Amino acid sequence: MRLAKMKNKNLIVKILFSLCLLSGIVLTICIAQVISRGTTLQSYTVKASTANIPHEETSKAMKFEIPILMYHYIRVVDNPDDKTGINLSVAPDKFSEQLDYLEEEGYHTINFRDVLAGSIPEKPVILTFDDGYEDFYTSAYPELKKRNMTAVSYVITGKTSNRYLAKEQIRELSNSGIEIGSHTLSHLSLSLLGDEKAEKEISLSKQVLEEIIGQEIISFCYPAGRFNAKTVELVKKSGYDFATTTKAGLANFENPLVLSRYRMNANTNISNYLK
Ligand SMILES: [Zn+2]
Repeated sequence: MRLAKMKNKNLIVKILFSLCLLSGIVLTICIAQVISRGTTLQSYTVKASTANIPHEETSKAMKFEIPILMYHYIRVVDNPDDKTGINLSVAPDKFSEQLDYLEEEGYHTINFRDVLAGSIPEKPVILTFDDGYEDFYTSAYPELKKRNMTAVSYVITGKTSNRYLAKEQIRELSNSGIEIGSHTLSHLSLSLLGDEKAEKEISLSKQVLEEIIGQEIISFCYPAGRFNAKTVELVKKSGYDFATTTKAGLANFENPLVLSRYRMNANTNISNYLK
């Protein structure tokens, strides 16, 4: 009788222990799910807040300056007589040194989406690459990726083959955190065009890029730095939040549609601009 009672007791203890163990496991699974859901929600919120910031309000509040570097090609120019080529190119090894310098000096690369979201760190810098040359993908992007850096690539939508970025590359860059901006349909000097043609260059290129990357395009770059008051008005009307020029200097975001930049070429010493 006593033995049977003891056996029963043991059985009850075993059952209780199993129940405790089981509820422990269930609780752990629930907690893990809540945590992972929280993370997903959090990252979603960050993305959503970037997209939903009222553009008007952000531009009103932008009383700050950020250095913007202007690159074109990242390549070696062998011909010493090719003055234009030299003026538009930075050699890959020099470019890597410049990125190392930025890291050593505590600079943080951001893009215009970060600015719009109000996500501006200490010592920010924006790296821009004009014309959408393919060497951005083959030479610049791997170096940026290695250092977890971002940049802005300005694409001419009528040029997406040969030595220019292909649509798939543009999409991949965008998905990897590189901001894609518009550099018009065909790189004509906008200030020399009629309003209708200029508007088409500005707004249609935005639509074409948005179809390629599936995201809103918020920044624009004036081809050859040519623009006038009407051009700026059209850029604003087309829905861009930022536009860069070739005017030399530190970019003042109080005027986000006429941002100055520092030109980078074969002989530029980056420390002249960023100390
Ligand atoms: Zn250009």
